[in-house]
Amino acid sequence: MSVIKIHDKYFKPYLPKEKLEKYVSFLAKQVAEELPKDEVPIFIGILNGCFMFVADFIREFDRPCKVSFVKLASYQGTNTSGKVKQLVGINENLKGKTVIILEDIIDTGTTLTEIYNIFRDKQVKELKIVTLFFKPDVFKKELHIDYIGKSIPDKFIVGYGLDYDGLGRNLESIYQLTDKKMTNIVLFGPPGAGKGTQATRLKEKYDLVHISTGDVFRLNIKNQTALGMEAKKYMDQGDLVPDEITIGMLKAEVEKNLDSNGIIFDGFPRTEHQAKVLDAFLTEKGEEISGMVALEVPEDLLVERLLERGKTSGRPDDQDESKIRNRFNEYETKTAVLKDFYLEQNKYYGVDGVGSIEEITNRLSKVFGTL
Ligand code: AMP
Repeated sequence: MSVIKIHDKYFKPYLPKEKLEKYVSFLAKQVAEELPKDEVPIFIGILNGCFMFVADFIREFDRPCKVSFVKLASYQGTNTSGKVKQLVGINENLKGKTVIILEDIIDTGTTLTEIYNIFRDKQVKELKIVTLFFKPDVFKKELHIDYIGKSIPDKFIVGYGLDYDGLGRNLESIYQLTDKKMTNIVLFGPPGAGKGTQATRLKEKYDLVHISTGDVFRLNIKNQTALGMEAKKYMDQGDLVPDEITIGMLKAEVEKNLDSNGIIFDGFPRTEHQAKVLDAFLTEKGEEISGMVALEVPEDLLVERLLERGKTSGRPDDQDESKIRNRFNEYETKTAVLKDFYLEQNKYYGVDGVGSIEEITNRLSKVFGTL
């Protein structure tokens, strides 16, 4: 499950299908248990939102019952309009019957008031209210609700029958309106600038996910996957791995983390094409790059750092100065242009990358804190 867009708004996964099944079956069992033994109730679903709930509920209700519907409407967009219209009324004779209302959601209670009005003069034996969802924070009425599947915060939800301006009813799970965006940061800089070291510290501090394409490739090499074997040919020489391989892998990593607070991209994008693909992909998900934070370090110092790291990292591309120079060449010719790419979007933040690890973390934090 990932963030979805309906009309102009974004919704994040909230309750998966399995949870809904549990609430529904719990409600059906509770209602069945508390009804007198020979009572045949009439369930009345309040359309439109209830149709999936009613279908699942009555399948779980393993006793004789009747089912009918009324159609009321009170929503326009994501706000309740306060006025309820009865579009399809009830034709059955309900006198002396046990009527059980099935609502998908009760929030302000406006619809519930109307339901009580409709059934007040029908001389029913008993009227019970079952709702799958209930928003206690906005419920303003002194009306009784007999069974609640789940109390939820006052956030607009769609799916499982509930819509946003007509769409979203066919989703099998529930999604919640989201305005909170992820903080997605491209941590940028030439090889050896300290991106990995800093990302490890910053991800803890800001509760972000760290995606290092280099690390993902190295893990694949270690596990001898086909992707790893293919990437190794390029990596060992200090060449960039072709975009066809890298982009697919990166997208899969991002997909896994769309419900996080945000992502630190380390080692991606490395070409303008990758940057464009990343922008388009995030837009599709309702997200964007918050900023590129670049560690600026002179090249001589970088070579020194990489050779030093090569003594312990076990990375073939750290151990040979010609391969290191090739990585810089790749950086200069293909990657460095990304500074302009993000500058044009007003998203470039340069940070002095010379100093102790602590000092650099502090400098980076000043920028991270604002993104
Ligand atoms: P790194 O650990 O970021 O220094 O990456 C090590 C190597 O992995 C690079 O020299 C490339 O061969 C490969 N690599 C990592 N990220 C990318 C990328 N975004 N595009 C192409 N190749 C990459």
